[in-house]
Formats: sequence, C-alpha cells, structure tokens
Amino acid sequence: MRCPHCGALDTQVRDSRPSEDHAAIRRRRSCSECGARFTTFERVQLRELTIIKRDGRMVPFEREKLTRSIQVALRKRPVSPDRIEQLVSKVVRTLENDNDPAIPSEKVGRLVMETLKKLDGVAYVRYASVYRDFREAKDFHRVLGELGDSFAHAVEEER
Ligand SMILES: [Zn+2]
Repeated sequence: MRCPHCGALDTQVRDSRPSEDHAAIRRRRSCSECGARFTTFERVQLRELTIIKRDGRMVPFEREKLTRSIQVALRKRPVSPDRIEQLVSKVVRTLENDNDPAIPSEKVGRLVMETLKKLDGVAYVRYASVYRDFREAKDFHRVLGELGDSFAHAVEEER
C-alpha cells in the first residue's frame, strides 16, 4: 500500500482488527520511509456502483465522499466513528442491492437523509440544508417542523 504522505511503497501493517460490526477490517499502517501512520479498510463490495449526477454525468461511486458528507453532518454530534462507518455501510449495501445499473445522486441523498433522520436530528437538518439546497429560512423551518420540538431546539441553539 502506497504511503499517502510521501508516496513510498514500503509500508507496514502495525495493527489489524475488525470494526465493531465485523463488516470491515481496519489496518493501522506505518511508512518505513517517512514514518507516517494511516489506516486502511478492507470491505466486501457486492458490485461496482455508478452514480448519475444532477447534470447527467455518470461517475463511479466513492465511498469516501459519502463518508465525508456524513461526517460533516455529524460533526461534534455524539456519534462514534464506528457508528458512522456502520451507517455508511448500511447506505452502501442498500445501494448495492438496488437493481438499477446506475443510481441517481438524488437517491443517495434521500437515503442518507432517511438514515440520519432516525439517528440525529441536528445532523439531518445539516445534511438536508445542503442536499435540498435551502434558499430561504422557510425551507429550514419546514424541516425543523418535520422533526418536532426537541430537535428543533437543539438545532436553533447551534445556529
Ligand atoms: Zn511515507
């Protein structure tokens, strides 16, 4: 595995263990050249996924991008990295089981929203505001209304 910091090919596995739900193997690696440490994951992939972007372009699905968008939505929320990994795996598995050869990006967005809605209201609103491209305050308040008072309060406090 090439070192992401210096590009050297001589990297070593320091530690290898399954993720909490045993859906992935997490490996801590270190670079023999520059000493940098990084993590790799080994996972089951049922099939290659292609995403249809809003402008019609077809691009290969990237798990890292999906993970980042969910991490951003969940920043500083009481959700562990392992839990986020599980959530991403669940979304990916659902997409892999979809019969369509290519999946519209809107569908991915909707799926993430549904998942976040059950998990964390604040993260849901954050994600929804990006995904639905909120332009006006009323869009924001409509989503808050869907969530109920307790979540709405938490979100308002954070703004
Ligand atoms: Zn290196």
